Amino acid sequence: MRIVLVGPPGAGKGTQAAFLAKNLSIPHISTGDLFRANISQGTELGKKAKSYMDAGQLVPDEVTIGMAKDRMEQADAVNGFLLDGFPRNVSQAEALDVALKADDVTLDAVLDLEVPEDEVVKRIAGRRICRNDSAHVFHVTYKQPKAEGVCDTCGGELYQRDDDKEETVRKRLEVYHTQTEPIIDYYREQGLVVTISALGKVEEVTARAMEALE
Ligand code: ADP
Ligand code: ADP
Ligand code: ADP
Repeated sequence: MRIVLVGPPGAGKGTQAAFLAKNLSIPHISTGDLFRANISQGTELGKKAKSYMDAGQLVPDEVTIGMAKDRMEQADAVNGFLLDGFPRNVSQAEALDVALKADDVTLDAVLDLEVPEDEVVKRIAGRRICRNDSAHVFHVTYKQPKAEGVCDTCGGELYQRDDDKEETVRKRLEVYHTQTEPIIDYYREQGLVVTISALGKVEEVTARAMEALE
């Protein structure tokens, strides 16, 4: 199965993607996690991405599309994938279509997570992630780690992403509305969009998503 997950920052894309990828036996590909891994490893790609991320802006397409395609070409993505955070504007969506067409495959669904803005702000304000792996995600009230500031999965240190601070969050929400939301209409024209509410407990949202993808 080939699925694209869309939704505002803090909607719970990463959280849901982890469960959905496991249930569907497909790799979870998060461009945000790939950028953060590159930044912590000090790669050239990480250096290029960092200033854009810190400003709450999109990393330029020249950098992003190549990275996403490389990851999709890896062996474990041959039979499908769950894309989280890519595409994030219409030109990335068009580039993805070209790449899929070249392989003679198509997307199965675009899962759109709907959350009111005040809830998104609460989720982002309390998000804490692990220094070792930004896919290890916690929340100060909604998903507390067993020991404060320590990752349950690997023992790493939990911290707040620089771009989760209030000023940057406002910019990221604006970028979502102006640049990312248009891809929902783009995919709607292809008949691919399923919208679900991402409110409620994590497992309730996962159940809703699995039902929508059937
Ligand atoms: P969130 O999960 O909160 O929406 P992400 O981890 O997906 O955030 O993204 C963090 C930042 O990484 C974005 O604000 C942007 O700067 C960059 N980024 C991630 N994916 C893309 C993409 N597809 N295109 C451009 N920039 C991206
Ligand atoms: P995204 O990848 O869309 O930016 P995350 O999956 O990182 O979102 O979730 C943002 C924050 O909200 C995290 O701290 C996460 O633990 C929390 N969260 C995720 N899903 C829920 C939920 N259903 N209810 C409450 N908090 C949630
Ligand atoms: P309580 O039973 O103490 O009221 P809940 O289990 O109902 O707590 O959860 C409170 C909030 O935490 C809800 O918004 C729920 O969506 C969120 N939540 C529960 N589990 C998780 C999780 N694993 N990650 C993120 N948020 C979660």
